[in-house]
Amino acid sequence: MRRHRNVKIVATLGPASSSHEMIRALFEAGADVFRLNMSHGAHDDIRQRHEIIRKVEKDLGRPIGILADLQGPKLRVGVFANGAEDLAEGAAFRMDLSTAPGDATRVNLPHPEIFAALEAGTSLLVNDGKIRLRVNACGKDFADCTVEVGGTISNRKGVNVPDVVLPLAALSEKDRGDLEFVCGLGVDWIALSFVQRPEDVIEARSLVKGRAAVLSKIEKPAAVNAYDAILQVSDGIMVARGDLGVELPVTSVPPIQKRLVRRARAAAKPVIVATQMLESMIESPVPTRAEVSDVATAIYEGADAVMLSAESAAGKYPVEAVRTMSDVAMSVEKDPTYRSVIEASRVVRRESVADGIVAAAREIAEATNIKAICCFSQTGNTASLVARERPHVPIIALTPLMSTARRLALTWGAHCVITQPQERFKGAVLAAVRAARTEGFATDEDQIVVTAGVPFNVKGTTNILRVAPCDERLISSVDPE
Ligand code: PGA
Ligand code: MN
Repeated sequence: MRRHRNVKIVATLGPASSSHEMIRALFEAGADVFRLNMSHGAHDDIRQRHEIIRKVEKDLGRPIGILADLQGPKLRVGVFANGAEDLAEGAAFRMDLSTAPGDATRVNLPHPEIFAALEAGTSLLVNDGKIRLRVNACGKDFADCTVEVGGTISNRKGVNVPDVVLPLAALSEKDRGDLEFVCGLGVDWIALSFVQRPEDVIEARSLVKGRAAVLSKIEKPAAVNAYDAILQVSDGIMVARGDLGVELPVTSVPPIQKRLVRRARAAAKPVIVATQMLESMIESPVPTRAEVSDVATAIYEGADAVMLSAESAAGKYPVEAVRTMSDVAMSVEKDPTYRSVIEASRVVRRESVADGIVAAAREIAEATNIKAICCFSQTGNTASLVARERPHVPIIALTPLMSTARRLALTWGAHCVITQPQERFKGAVLAAVRAARTEGFATDEDQIVVTAGVPFNVKGTTNILRVAPCDERLISSVDPE
């Protein structure tokens, strides 16, 4: 089974998408990575979803990425007795430390340090800034507010306090517990919310200990400012436009998105564009024209992945939302303008042998009738370098490591195939042409490019490029051992 597009799709799981049938349907519709949102859902739910994804992976024989998104120092209200309440403009509303379920007059805000930092006049923004409250009076365990902009407030909605610098650690106690829990389950990516400094990422890495790749969500002004340093210590990036558009003027998000995507690609690290991409599909089976255009823009910009949040987690049309993203991707990727935009934004980086080899692989594929670039990759690094080139032919990443294949589920264009560990170059070439044929990328008459590193199974040794015929008889007669 292969996808006929390069950009990847991340689908967040939630109450609307927890059954085996639904997760399988989402994968079949095009989801490459599933996001487990640790802000919602008990550990039991998360464990169950994880189990189902791995079962679907086994049944369908394709590696699937799982991204566990830690809540981070994100403020959220508690729960409501009725699940939700409508707040009208001008009404009084209280946030407090009482854990009793909320109603139309109050709700729990379980962050004592915030009450200490608030002052009369401070704005509290709820639910991605849709609701605006103004603090009238506050104490060490409450804030009495007036609703300035009303709306529906519901269980665990996020709260931003843009006017105040909050004294919060990068990882809360909950995050540390969640991190151990999801590493124990065996997730492939851990996303860090509200990263502010590279030190936040370094601290998280020291807890993850290589058990998963670490992705930084850029959703704070401080993270935008320290982006290059954060990118350097991260394995991947998410342009988290929801909170970014609350913490900063919403009109500053598009230029930030462009810059973040471009730099992540230059660093050969996967970048996800996230939030409200198909928002109206929470309620409607068809997207707005503007949403389709937004997804398309992220793809034209060269993002590795586009993401669904509530659309797939809690919406009425999760499968349709995934299918829409997939259709948009196929439409954009066959547009000649897409190719020219992608080429124009290619970064020429020639610092290592591997850089040269992946560039050569792409150039050969462009100039000749090559059907795929097959790369042997231990850590996934070579596959990421090939992806940075954004070649017009498919990338087949061959690896003996399931963990690498799953991580690469997020990387632009990477179609991963698990192979036996290779000892000899000829064996590797044979494995590559077989994979290209059986996965439907090439026939006997075709040729592919194979890149590998000899000696095998050593990190960072990409040093061979071979143009190989897919007819095995031709390989056996000419190739060196
Ligand atoms: P969230 O992150 O959905 O966890 O808030 C994404 C965003 O802020 O855009
Ligand atoms: Mn966020």
